[in-house]
Amino acid sequence: MQKFRGVFLKNDNEIAIMREANRLGVSILEAMCAEVKPGVATMRFEEVAQDMCRSYGVRPAFEGYYGFPFALCCSVNEQVVHGFPSATRILEEGDIVSFDFGVVYEGFFSDSARTVGVGEVSDEARLLMRVTEESLMKGIAEARPGNTLNDVSAAIEQHARAHKLAIIRRFVGHGVGRSLHEKPEIPNFVPAVSNPLPLKAGMVLAIEPMLALGTHEVNILADNWTAVTKDGKYAAHFEHSIAITPQGPEILSLPDKAA
Ligand code: MG
Ligand code: MG
Repeated sequence: MQKFRGVFLKNDNEIAIMREANRLGVSILEAMCAEVKPGVATMRFEEVAQDMCRSYGVRPAFEGYYGFPFALCCSVNEQVVHGFPSATRILEEGDIVSFDFGVVYEGFFSDSARTVGVGEVSDEARLLMRVTEESLMKGIAEARPGNTLNDVSAAIEQHARAHKLAIIRRFVGHGVGRSLHEKPEIPNFVPAVSNPLPLKAGMVLAIEPMLALGTHEVNILADNWTAVTKDGKYAAHFEHSIAITPQGPEILSLPDKAA
């Protein structure tokens, strides 16, 4: 595979495989979202993920990754990312739940995430989810040849700041392909040492802002995975895998409109 400054470039065939990987991954994500309601244990979503992977003949991307014990990252309320599905965590009205999920299909990884409300949620929770998704879309819009990686980070940062939301700094987006995490890292803010990497057609990136209502600081729970906000306030997470084409970004992980 061709490389540009350490970043793998995918050809049209490889992007076509990743398009299919993401189509399958997102249809599983959609099935989980359809089951979100008060009274459901979050382990239910793990079952959906496992069952659908089996029926599609694909492997869950995260299970066993550095020892992660589930197919699905399921993070409720103050949990930012890498939460465990649980038979005893029962969703309640007003919660928000983030699903982060991917599959491996013909050797390539899909990766996308979204946060949804459980029943009626507060205005500020709704704003948090809306602005996090908008900041993702603003970042994606900058992912085109002629721009740099900094343009993506800056667009996300500006939108989050305009709404006075905290940007989780500890976790970043990434290149994706034959590995779940490839170069480059994609911070959701412009770091002190910024990355003016020119964006090229053939790069496939997983862009994934995580925003919070209070502090940007996180703790990791005793399970060694679950990241929670230090102040216990809600966090949201949206992620798409995108391919940079000569014409601009193509979102690979949009829901399948054909069905
Ligand atoms: Mg992800
Ligand atoms: Mg990711």
